Amino acid sequence: MLNDAKRIMRTLIGAGYEAYMVGGFVRDRLLNKPVQDIDIATSATPADVMRLFPHTVATGLQHGTVTVVMSGRGFEVTTFRREGKYTDHRRPDHVEFVDSLQEDLSRRDFTINAMAMDVDGEVIDPFGGREDLAAGILRCVGDARERFREDGLRMLRCIRFAANYRLQIESAAWSAILELGSLLAMIAMERVRIELTKTVAGPDPVRGMRLLCESRLLRHTKVPLNWHPLIPRDESRAVDAWLNDLNRAGLAAMSEPSRWASLFLTGGQPTDDADAIMRKLTFSNEMRTGILRAMSLYGFIREQLASGTDDTCRIRRTWLDGAITFGRTCAQQVLEMRWLLTDEPWFEVFDQHAEQWLQQLDVWGPGDLDISGRDLGTLAASRGPWMGRLLHTLAVDAGMGDVENRKDALLARAVQYMEMWGLR
Ligand code: ATP
Ligand code: MG
Repeated sequence: MLNDAKRIMRTLIGAGYEAYMVGGFVRDRLLNKPVQDIDIATSATPADVMRLFPHTVATGLQHGTVTVVMSGRGFEVTTFRREGKYTDHRRPDHVEFVDSLQEDLSRRDFTINAMAMDVDGEVIDPFGGREDLAAGILRCVGDARERFREDGLRMLRCIRFAANYRLQIESAAWSAILELGSLLAMIAMERVRIELTKTVAGPDPVRGMRLLCESRLLRHTKVPLNWHPLIPRDESRAVDAWLNDLNRAGLAAMSEPSRWASLFLTGGQPTDDADAIMRKLTFSNEMRTGILRAMSLYGFIREQLASGTDDTCRIRRTWLDGAITFGRTCAQQVLEMRWLLTDEPWFEVFDQHAEQWLQQLDVWGPGDLDISGRDLGTLAASRGPWMGRLLHTLAVDAGMGDVENRKDALLARAVQYMEMWGLR
């Protein structure tokens, strides 16, 4: 990837322009982190860039960005620019192309994001980004209050970078966040979601949550989130208890949906509240419903076992019943979240066996049974909702190994249930 970026830069330089790798790439490279993508800044205009390369896509012409496709990969090439006045605290009224790298770097948010690297690997670092990285400090380029006033989203980015790169937020930046939090009200919920998601999915989500709590930023979202305990008033003890629960839950080892589900579950949000919060944050339907399903399966198991059993057979049946009802993905997510369940009297049995039980499960629903609704229909005078319930029960029985998954055995079992349920 680096070689392709260098080819692009050499082409630009050969045509008489300047070109540098900038932003996140330089930061991550200095930290020896895996490279995600490489952004290039250049003195060439978008029209020049489109003329110089055979495969380009005009992805963000109004911002001066052209995507150059090289070896099947896209590189964003952006003309050096300065941002015009910010009147709405979220995006510049216009962008102006400039001819110095220095000016382009000075519009960037944090010193660690305001470095460039030339084609020979030489680092250009006018704001001391390297020094801040080495010292573990997250510092704004220029005056923090001014930078957050220009774009309120930067306050959330500040928390995201501090959490994900384990940096200390420099004191002027932190004071500015405490002072200017209300500017978050100008920011589209979608952009808030993107930053929160990157924080939640990052390497230290609990630190992210702590900073969000302490900053009280989420009180000020454009659409009020009402997401306690992330919006603390003076209940700092409750927040500490929540963060402890999150630490115990082992968030960083989970998939992203399980992380969100854990945040809501430990925060005491019922699924309705979690649903509302995710809708306000413009989650995709797929993500939102996946998280809600994981929460529901978790709730189902706790409820079914609430009497405090330690009977292995009952724990297994409840678990497999839930897994069959909610599906494999959900079950996997609840396994990831099992550290939230350590206080339950059945936790040890569950922890020891649940994963293996799941692996052994070979009937995942009525569709895997050797009989169908039609077969059941021949056993009773009328059809009805009992049929779905019976098929599900038979699937759980077969999954448990209580009945063989063979037509005659299942039909005999079905008759027993129907007699028990007064259907025959
Ligand atoms: P990552 O892609 O790993 O999340 P990144 O630093 O590349 O991190 P992007 O959001 O992709 O972050 O932005 C690329 C660069 O653009 C940043 O490094 C920064 O220099 C600049 N930048 C992005 N958003 C802003 C902003 N709101 N204000 C100022 N500069 C920004
Ligand atoms: Mg990036």
